[in-house]
Amino acid sequence: MTKFIHTLGSALLLLAVSLPAWNFDARAQRDPNQTFQGQDYLCYEKHDLHFYQNYRWFAAEMPLKVYIPPVNKAWGAKNPAMYTPLVQQAFLNWSKAVPKMRFQWVSDPKQAQIMVLWQEKYPESEVTWGRAAYPTPYLDKKTKKIRHKSTLFLAIKAQDGTAMAPGEALFSEDELLAIATHEVAHALGLGHSGHAEDLMYHAMYARFDGSWEITERDRASLQRLYDLPEDLEISPCNG
Ligand SMILES: [Zn+2]
Repeated sequence: MTKFIHTLGSALLLLAVSLPAWNFDARAQRDPNQTFQGQDYLCYEKHDLHFYQNYRWFAAEMPLKVYIPPVNKAWGAKNPAMYTPLVQQAFLNWSKAVPKMRFQWVSDPKQAQIMVLWQEKYPESEVTWGRAAYPTPYLDKKTKKIRHKSTLFLAIKAQDGTAMAPGEALFSEDELLAIATHEVAHALGLGHSGHAEDLMYHAMYARFDGSWEITERDRASLQRLYDLPEDLEISPCNG
């Protein structure tokens, strides 16, 4: 029974990590669930041991191979050449913060451990500007070892009616870098923070004035996740 719940939980996790679009309430008031006051927020979302054991990359998988396709020309991007280096920068922001995180760009999607998928914009019914899967474990048939895969979903435009500047739906370079950097952390296994200052706050669009940053708490959370032993037996959130 426990096993079943874990399996179901794993499937749900795949789509559970999404970033809500601009939420004025979130900006106006602090998250009422903001109760965790530690040096990091690894336990803010209270995952179980199974999650911390399995939904992060192993050291043997580094550097992570990332495939970033070009954006579709038909979508009307003003500067189509900016997107690949921008997403690479989003990954490198985390390498700079936590040097254990290493990445390699690949031109063949079949080699990718992390796939980036572009879309023009999310439908209005999906209140999100970005989405990423946690590193999802699978059994590699050749090596008989557990390996991971993740996908990052990014859009070049905000949904109609939610653009930051009226009449301009295209995300600016800085806005999209903020979104991509947030989503990359999910693809590394990091969940949300309850602190509005952190990049991993679930409504981080409040920082779309160009002041967003990877805070010390963001850095410490990812660092702690990857300092956990790979044969973890006790949840870091017990006690
Ligand atoms: Zn998020």
